[in-house]
Amino acid sequence: MSDAASLLDNNREPVARPRHPEKAHRPDQPVARKPAWIRVKAPGSPQWDATRKIVKEHRLVTVCEEAGCPNIGECWEKKHATFMILGDTCTRACAFCNVKTGLPLALDPSEPVRVGEAVKKLGLAHSVITSVDRDDLADGGAGHFAKVVAAIKAASPNTTVEVLTPDFLRKQGALETVVAAKPDVFNHNLETVASKYLEVRPGARYFHSIRLLQRVKEIDPRIFTKSGMMLGLGEERHEVLQLMDDLRTADVDFLTMGQYLQPTRKHHPVARFVPPGEFASYAEVALAKGFLLVSSSPLTRSSHHAGEDFASLKARRLALRERL
Ligand code: SF4
Repeated sequence: MSDAASLLDNNREPVARPRHPEKAHRPDQPVARKPAWIRVKAPGSPQWDATRKIVKEHRLVTVCEEAGCPNIGECWEKKHATFMILGDTCTRACAFCNVKTGLPLALDPSEPVRVGEAVKKLGLAHSVITSVDRDDLADGGAGHFAKVVAAIKAASPNTTVEVLTPDFLRKQGALETVVAAKPDVFNHNLETVASKYLEVRPGARYFHSIRLLQRVKEIDPRIFTKSGMMLGLGEERHEVLQLMDDLRTADVDFLTMGQYLQPTRKHHPVARFVPPGEFASYAEVALAKGFLLVSSSPLTRSSHHAGEDFASLKARRLALRERL
């Protein structure tokens, strides 16, 4: 195994296949030292272990592990794991992402039931389901998403479901399939500003992602919509404000903003560590632009505190309706 291969698989035991084959020949990028405000809880408490056991017993993949999320110590201690469905291999190769890329295996028809059972065992009041991109499937994996939502509702009728989906680019009818499954929250992350797409998210299209979110609200206005972006990829402030306006035009309810952290030397470098005060100032602006809820801090991630945030979304929508 080459140095490049082990470097590109910093999240697991060494494997025969490199984690990011398409990134192996990219030049090394400088890795900036993290500032003092990026400090996280180390994983390993008994509750963390109990969560890990349930994930493994049900043979599930989590984005917490695959993306090397810094919050895993805190979240898993509270039994909050975010499941990544449709396999562990993504058909895109975004410059920021640590998820394995390549040609995925066939879908596992037992996955929806296993996710439903794990959510029940974890006792989650609010569950978050995300996935890899599956450009190789005719429906982009939408039908499987719908089955997972149904399986969670069948196993735990009181548990709310949040989906964090791919963009279903060129997958006619896929979005409608997921919306018809009636998730409580539909999340799709823009990840970065429009000018950075070619470099950071080359397989995606900024305005397609905006339109996807807008369509969710058009089809079912009861579903909360949510999107997230990373700061520190080289974006300008005026571009971030434009992104907020674009999301508000699509009637998106909830915006999350967090610091980009570079997974390996082969990934996009961190252009800047944005200080916590700047995150707070973005939150103020975003709320003034009309989002129901904004979570903006260096360690904010899409699924971080998702249960508490869902409760806040419901309360704010209700308060808004009562005022009208
Ligand atoms: S923030 Fe989300 S991805 Fe990260 S550990 Fe928590 S649940 Fe998992």
